[in-house]
Amino acid sequence: MSSHYRGRIAPTPTGYLHLGHARTFWIAMERAVEAGGTLVYRDEDLDPERCKPEFAAAAMEDLRWFGCDWQEGPDLGGPSGPYRQSERHSLFLHAWERLKNAGYIYPCDKSRKDVARAAQAPHADEEASEVIYPEHWRPPLGHGRAASQPGPTNWRFRVPDERTIQFDDVRLGPCAFECLRDFGDFLVWRKDGVPAYELAVVVDDAAMEISEVVRGEDLLISTARQLLLYEALGLKPPEFYHTPLLCDTSGQRLAKRNRSLTLRELREAGHQPESLRQSEDWWSGLDD
Ligand code: GLU
Repeated sequence: MSSHYRGRIAPTPTGYLHLGHARTFWIAMERAVEAGGTLVYRDEDLDPERCKPEFAAAAMEDLRWFGCDWQEGPDLGGPSGPYRQSERHSLFLHAWERLKNAGYIYPCDKSRKDVARAAQAPHADEEASEVIYPEHWRPPLGHGRAASQPGPTNWRFRVPDERTIQFDDVRLGPCAFECLRDFGDFLVWRKDGVPAYELAVVVDDAAMEISEVVRGEDLLISTARQLLLYEALGLKPPEFYHTPLLCDTSGQRLAKRNRSLTLRELREAGHQPESLRQSEDWWSGLDD
């Protein structure tokens, strides 16, 4: 059966992968296999300070050990390469230029700390993860349009007022996020010369013709932001399938800092991928 399904797995090599990553990537692989499609491996090594080549190599090795398999990637090549984001700068720059010329983005000299300090407390009923960029700091429309390069400054996307971003998640169903309430003006380019995650991932998913993005549900708000970028760039968005996050026995979300659960250490401790995939932990939260 031939299929146009194209999925991807896109780890950021800032540390060793843990079982939570493996489960998300495993689901991504299963969905690609079930659709008779292609799975792309993309190395999201954009941040030169935090990403390390040894973690990028370890991620591929550990996922192979775990049983993950992809058809295009840094190790295999393919028609949509290069598969390392650090080698795709010109595409990101082109997107920056289009957004800037169309007036969607503006240069911003506020640091993350400034924003955190000045912003109103986010909704009292939520964990304080999302800080809204204060609207009164926005420059007038058109500011920055004359720039020929991003330069040593941050650039933000001007989020529309009074708009709700809605999408149908393949697993979760209808999702909705309100602009300037659930998220505010977000970074698309960083002052250290690196595109921000939101921009890079949209440019790459579109250029690699990804038809379905499978990733953790911690990125649901990012999906809303990214849909605005797809629209601004005139690109067709993929489908989205957000996976539940894997928690440990105390209910804490697994993170790279939970060292005991890296794939590397599980392997060194003698665990087998098959039995990890049958464990109770693995199935926690997988309700469908
Ligand atoms: N590279 C991101 C991460 O490791 C995931 C990007 C995505 O799936 O959109 O968290």
